[in-house]
Amino acid sequence: MKPIKITNRNIMFTEPMGETYDLNIGLILGAKHNFVIDTGRGSGSVAPVLEYIGDDPKPTVVINTHSHWDHVCGNHVFESGLIVSHTICRELIEKHWDEFFDSISRHIDGEARKCLPNLTFDSKLHFPEDGISLYHTPGHAPDGISIYDAVDRVLYAGDEIGDTDDEIVPHIGTDKETMQRTIEIFKQIDFDICISGHNKPQTKAVLARMETALAAAWKRQNEKG
Ligand SMILES: [Zn+2]
Repeated sequence: MKPIKITNRNIMFTEPMGETYDLNIGLILGAKHNFVIDTGRGSGSVAPVLEYIGDDPKPTVVINTHSHWDHVCGNHVFESGLIVSHTICRELIEKHWDEFFDSISRHIDGEARKCLPNLTFDSKLHFPEDGISLYHTPGHAPDGISIYDAVDRVLYAGDEIGDTDDEIVPHIGTDKETMQRTIEIFKQIDFDICISGHNKPQTKAVLARMETALAAAWKRQNEKG
């Protein structure tokens, strides 16, 4: 995982994952807390993040953008601190850990252990002293959340942005209406840069491309059925 400085206080750690996409972890160096966004494939994924934080005494807050394995497997490294997610995310990790862990164990980087979020929310959560807000933004996943840094105007959208430019609408694990509503939420947020779980950093223009692709998929489906 290689650190890339996106803005003054936003760092993205990235490594190749599939043939055409990466795995990204975010770090926001807030005024009162450091926020680690997703914990990747295990302790190995978060080791460079810990190294970057170094001896900074601010408490670390981990945020899971959703429950998929490649976003939560390093949670245990931070188990003494705050781990935040949507309420459904905690339920899904609890319910599915054993089955998904069996099927993905060969992809783990370092160690992974079941470690559930210890602070959950349903709609919104704010860390006002840090200028950080969390929003429920389902679409790719029912438990999808996004994190907005209002100081540097950076949005972390998890997998709610597609993994590559060719697939800019992600796999939809809810329904198209829910995905469209989340795009509407993103439009209301005043961001300059959007970091997602697997794609390159995007500008706000990504939303128009998503809407076009979503409308085209909708049309194809209606023509078929
Ligand atoms: Zn996902």
